[in-house]
Amino acid sequence: MQTSILDKYCDARLPWYTIYPTVSEFSAAVSAGACERWLRRLPGDDPVSLYLHVPFCRSICWYCGFPTQLTCRDKPILDFVAMLRDEIRLVADHVPQALPVSDVHFGGGTPTSIGPTAFLELLELLRRCFMFSKMATIAIEIDPRALTAEMAETLGAAGVNRASIGVQSFDPIVQKAVNRVQSEAQTATAVERLRRHGIRRINFDLIFGLPNQTVPSCVQSAKTAIAMRPDRLAVFGYAHVPSYMKRQRLIDEEALPDNAARAEQAAAVADTLVAAGYRQIGLDHFALPDDELTLAQKAGRLRRNSLGYSADTCKTVIGFGPSAIGRLGDGYVQNEIATGSYNQHIRAGRLAISRGYTLTDEDRLHAAIIERLMCDLQVDVSAICAAHGFDPAAFLDSAERLEMLAEDGVVDIDKGFIRVKQEHRFVLRAVASAFDAYLGRSPY
Ligand code: SF4
Repeated sequence: MQTSILDKYCDARLPWYTIYPTVSEFSAAVSAGACERWLRRLPGDDPVSLYLHVPFCRSICWYCGFPTQLTCRDKPILDFVAMLRDEIRLVADHVPQALPVSDVHFGGGTPTSIGPTAFLELLELLRRCFMFSKMATIAIEIDPRALTAEMAETLGAAGVNRASIGVQSFDPIVQKAVNRVQSEAQTATAVERLRRHGIRRINFDLIFGLPNQTVPSCVQSAKTAIAMRPDRLAVFGYAHVPSYMKRQRLIDEEALPDNAARAEQAAAVADTLVAAGYRQIGLDHFALPDDELTLAQKAGRLRRNSLGYSADTCKTVIGFGPSAIGRLGDGYVQNEIATGSYNQHIRAGRLAISRGYTLTDEDRLHAAIIERLMCDLQVDVSAICAAHGFDPAAFLDSAERLEMLAEDGVVDIDKGFIRVKQEHRFVLRAVASAFDAYLGRSPY
């Protein structure tokens, strides 16, 4: 890809468009009261997704952008689990009936840090408060360094059927530079334990753009991952925003690859994975041909949600735990980010919502266009405008950045149909940002 395009359109501050509008538009105008009303209005027969955030890790990786905190003790974790259980009961009191559930995701942090007994009790409570479909996906994020044999067995026995394993890089030099030293054997053991206990759907997370990373290092990590044959891989570009994420200040900026090197790393990993039989999905995912993500993309029903790409078709997400984001038909709600504030609310018997956003008709239109672009790399703007009752001509004329993207050869535009050229997939977020009505400060 041309350096001029990269320099013009690559910007770490651009949103990832997992949701639209992005969290920077959330405000305290949406309170726990609004959330209660929105929960009461949820249709009783529409399946929902549940997301549970466990904000603890046994060590902190310096690149990490997730809300999580270090703890070496079990007590704060167990105290938190008691709050999480209370929050589940509180939410269940506000929905019209036990809602059907098709998708559950335990994220964090390190969700397995709650231990086998607390995990089983938590899942049991969820099953009592909601109606789990027999086919429900129950997924959990795994740090191989912290997965015990007992926990792997518990996850299998509890019905967990997808595991997302944090790898990032197998290169010891890179691992040391980001404070995440994890041997190949630790990852292989975690995969083997999970598979042995019936958890066969395995995702890997890899990262490029980390300090000291090179193209050969990235390709070698991809090859080592391929040898363990995960069904899916997410290959994220490291976003260095130390002004926002203090822990990233520990990273040596001099050792970070520039935009051109990052693009080369991303392309080399993609080529390696595609040559090994994986299909490229959206901006940064790869999946085997028979994986649900691949099938969803083929059928045009791939979705973008706060976890990335998904085949889950639920319109509603209920979030539990500090910082968790829910999507409730009328808009978004987010819990208090700090665990202490979250605990205070729950202890007082009220939902821990700190902010949120009420969606307008215009937001839904922009969100639909951005979602299709991020999922399909193309979008029929005219058709989506018509479906939402908007005039496409007025809408396209006001998207000023589109013209520039077309002039630079990043996109083709034909009668309201926009297609991102394959070779410019790397700047997909910049294309999506052309439809972001709130991105006030242009990086270009
Ligand atoms: S990357 Fe995972 S294990 Fe590392 S600090 Fe973040 S949440 Fe914890």
